[in-house]
Formats: sequence, C-alpha cells, structure tokens
Amino acid sequence: MTLTPLELTRPASTTDALLRRLVARVPGSSGATWKLAEVYTGETLVELPQSTPADIEQAFAIAREAQRKWAATPLKQRLAVFKRAHAIFLDNARTVADLIQVESGKNRRMAIEETCDPPMVMSHYLKRAAKLLAPVRRGGPVPLLTTSTEIRQPKGVVGIIAPWNFPFATGISDAVPALMAGNAVVLKPDNKTALSPLYGVQLLEEAGLPEGVFQVVCGEGPDVGPTLIDRADYVMFTGSTATGRMIGERAGRNLIGCCLELGGKNPMIVLSDADLEAAVRGAIFGAFGNTGQICMHIERMYLPESSYDEFKNAFVAKAEALDVRAAYDFGPDMGSLVSVDQMRRVKSHVEDAVAKGATVLCGGKPRPDLGPAFFEPTILEGVTKDMLCGVTETFGPVVALHKYRTVEEAVALANDTDYGLNASVWSGDVHAARAVAARLESGNVNINDILATAYAAKGTPSGGVKSSGVGARHGDQGLLKYTDVQNMAVLKRQVMGPRPGQDHEKYVKGMLSGLKIMRKLHIR
Ligand code: NAD
Repeated sequence: MTLTPLELTRPASTTDALLRRLVARVPGSSGATWKLAEVYTGETLVELPQSTPADIEQAFAIAREAQRKWAATPLKQRLAVFKRAHAIFLDNARTVADLIQVESGKNRRMAIEETCDPPMVMSHYLKRAAKLLAPVRRGGPVPLLTTSTEIRQPKGVVGIIAPWNFPFATGISDAVPALMAGNAVVLKPDNKTALSPLYGVQLLEEAGLPEGVFQVVCGEGPDVGPTLIDRADYVMFTGSTATGRMIGERAGRNLIGCCLELGGKNPMIVLSDADLEAAVRGAIFGAFGNTGQICMHIERMYLPESSYDEFKNAFVAKAEALDVRAAYDFGPDMGSLVSVDQMRRVKSHVEDAVAKGATVLCGGKPRPDLGPAFFEPTILEGVTKDMLCGVTETFGPVVALHKYRTVEEAVALANDTDYGLNASVWSGDVHAARAVAARLESGNVNINDILATAYAAKGTPSGGVKSSGVGARHGDQGLLKYTDVQNMAVLKRQVMGPRPGQDHEKYVKGMLSGLKIMRKLHIR
C-alpha cells in the first residue's frame, strides 16, 4: 500500500463564491447552519442552512405551484430541457467531480464515474418517456360501444431523500424521470454531501427547468423527514434499511407510494473455472471501489477450495499494493471514508470480528496520518454470523473470504442473509454462471462483473429484494412509478341492463352467451 502524507490544494473550481451561491438555494429561516466540511482535511467549506418544518412546507407550496405549469407544458418542451441538460452536465463534469470529491472524500475516478450517471439516465428516458407517457387506448368491456384509455398523470410533488455515498447520482438521477413525467421535486440530500446535488439543480435550471420546480431542503433526517413525507405525493428514498423501514411506515400511513433502495451484504461467488486474474481484479473494485461505500459492493466472497489459496494470495498482494491517499487527481486507487463517524463504524466491525476470532489478512486499521476518516483496505478470514460484519452491512473497505466445497453450498451461503441487493458470479462458462445466478435471492446479479453492468443498464429495473428494498429505479417502472393512472372510459351507447320491457332471464341469457362469444373471439 502506498501511503503518502497529506499535501492538498482544494480544486480551483470549488471557490467560496460558488459554494455560497449553491447553499443560498436552501431555505433556513431559523438561521441554524451545519458545517459542511472537506473530508480530506476536516476543514469547514461552507455553512449549510438547516430547513425548519415551516421552510419545508413553504418549499412544497412553491413546488406545487410550479408543478401545475410544468405539467401543463407540452412533453416535447419538457424533454427539450433534458436534451440541453445532457450536454451541460457533460460540459461541467469536472466541476461536479470536484464538488463530489471535496464533500465525500472518494477518489477521482469514482467521482468522475458518478458524474456520468444523470446523463445516462437522461439519455435513456429521452428515448423512452414519450412512449411511456402517451395515452394507451384499451378495449372497453363492450366491443365498439365502449373504450377505456390508460392515461398517465404526474403524482404531483415527489419527495426524494438521498444518501451521501453517491450524492449527485441519487439526488439528480432519481429526479430526472419524475420531472420528465411532469412532477415537481423536493430533494433532501445528506447534510455532508449537499453541494453536488445543489450544483446539479443549478445546471438543470441553466438547461431551462423552470425555477421552483426543483426545491432542495436540508437538515438531519429525523428533523426534515416527517414534514417532507407528510407533504409529498410520493417518496423516493435511498439509504439504509433501518431508515427505509421508517420511511415506508410513514408513507404507508399517509397512503402514498414509495420506492425504497436500501442496503446490501452482497456476495461474490467464484466458480472453479473462472479466470482468476479477472476475478481478483473485479474483487479489488468490488471490495474497495468508492472506499467500500457502494450499496452494490461486495462484502462476502465465496471461493472454491481448489483455488482458495491462489485467489487469496493474489487478492491480498493487490490490496496491499493499492495507492490509498487524499488527492484531487487520478493518482489514488482509494480515497477516504465519508466521515469520522463512518470510519468508527467500520473500525468497530473489524474490532468485533477480530475479538470473536477472525483473522486480518491485510489492513484493519484507521489511517489518521492520511486524513481524519481514512481506513485501510481490509481482508478478513474466519468471519462468522455471530460477528457484526458477518450479518450486517459494514459499508467500508472490508471484505470476508470464505471457502466452499460444492456449488450448492456456495449458493446456500450467498443466500444466507436478510439482504438481497446485488450478487456477482464469476465463471468461464456463462451458461453455468446463469444457472447459479437464477438461484440467488438478489435483485441484481452481475456475471463476470461486480455491479456496473447491471447498474448502467438503464433499460432494466434495478432494485433490491428481501430487506434491500421495495420497488426499483431504471426501466419503465423507474418512470411510471412517478405517475398515477387515470382510466378514462367512454360509453357510446348504453347496452348494459335489460332493455325497457325485456325479460330479465332473456337479458341474462344474452349477456352470458355474449361473454362466451367474446372469450372465443379473444375479446376482453
Ligand atoms: P441513512 O439511511 O442513514 O440516510 C439516508 C438519507 O436519509 C440521508 O439523507 C439521511 O439524512 C436521511 N434520513 C436519516 N434518518 C431519516 C429519517 N428518520 N427520516 C427521513 N430521512 C432520514 O443512510 P446513509 O448512511 O446515509 O447511506 C448509506 C446507506 O445507503 C447504505 O446502507 C447503502 O447500502 C444505502 N444505499 C443504497 C442504495 C441502493 O440503491 N439500494 C444506493 C446508495 C446507498
């Protein structure tokens, strides 16, 4: 592992003037602020206003007013905003990456990759939205005399609650289909990472999104969450399973829909015929990409007995050679954890595992010499289910290696978890890997990849099963979930019920034989 002392200059684009302009968008009538810090140094970057319940109510009132006009704007014009936004987002990708890096501490490569997500989502729904939102004429109950048309109406104002690990992607990408469908959005990013989503809103407005349609409120989750959920017509939440349960309960009580994208304890299964070199390369990204703070990243690896030692030695050697440090260039392979709190959580998981008998094969310690929230890439062996990191998501650069004897055993071990977000299967035989994948209880399975192939496939819904979530983003449902269906039915001539003077028995006979004929003619 290359360990270099801290020598940093903040990216030039993140001027104090820009940061102040961004946070000025956040309502905070009480004057209370939160010190948003540069992760690598712990120095305060800007004072982030904290929104009171009254501020949140006001943000919803503004959004609701703006939404009426926005929904009445022809779809073609609404979509034109996102065509322009696509270009503007790409032109400003470097500034976005600068903001993501200062507020999250991730390395440059991950920050740049994150900037690509909203444009990819825009591209996908620019192709698909017009078809999804067009009225669909369905047959009515009586052929020729009735019609029924499925009409998609925007929900109204969508509340989005986003986490800190991909603040720009989760804050902006999930808003794109909601806005295209004619909704307004009120976003609550995490306090730690509000800058990049605020910049995303600014870019959308530069592209022509009317002011007021996209509001941002800030504050601690328990302070902002209740008012936000009580005012919203739909909630899109990304975060931990524990918080997701609370959001889901409140949304249920309010009889509004919600989509919950939650945590994982994702397994990687290496089959005996896998290309080990490729699998080890994948494992490095799976365990340590984004400093182990990707919801779909790998925390459990299942390796065949036959190649366990070979894989382990190569994996440990590569992990030890990783360049871990704070830098705003493309040098480091891994950056910091997001905060000292998160570092303490990761440390407590490793200490608990070691105290209960796990072995540290590499890493295992915080690195305060590199920055306040750095933790070494850590590989453990001998992790069991009585350990914290054996059952709950660690969300840091910590992975456990396990041996398996049969594929049956590997599948059973991979499924032995409450979570079901992502899994990764490696094999030289895609057919065999697909057969294993089909038996995994997981919303996403990547074959010969860790996560990017599934997540970047914007045409396919992506979500978790079991305790990893409800609903999905991407795919048709990633946009349709932000709409209500109106069933607009037209009766051209009344034929239901007996005609005046008609005998009831005759009417019933006629109706029943009519149903038989319709069934034979395949008429609904
Ligand atoms: P978290 O649940 O603590 O916080 C997520 C967001 O919810 C933050 O904005 C937070 O302020 C807010 N929040 C917290 N308590 C709240 C409450 N009572 N009411 C309303 N809002 C509240 O999660 P986190 O630690 O910020 O994020 C990491 C978690 O997110 C991990 O579990 C990770 O797996 C998960 N995640 C999932 C996905 C996915 O797509 N499935 C993507 C990214 C992250």
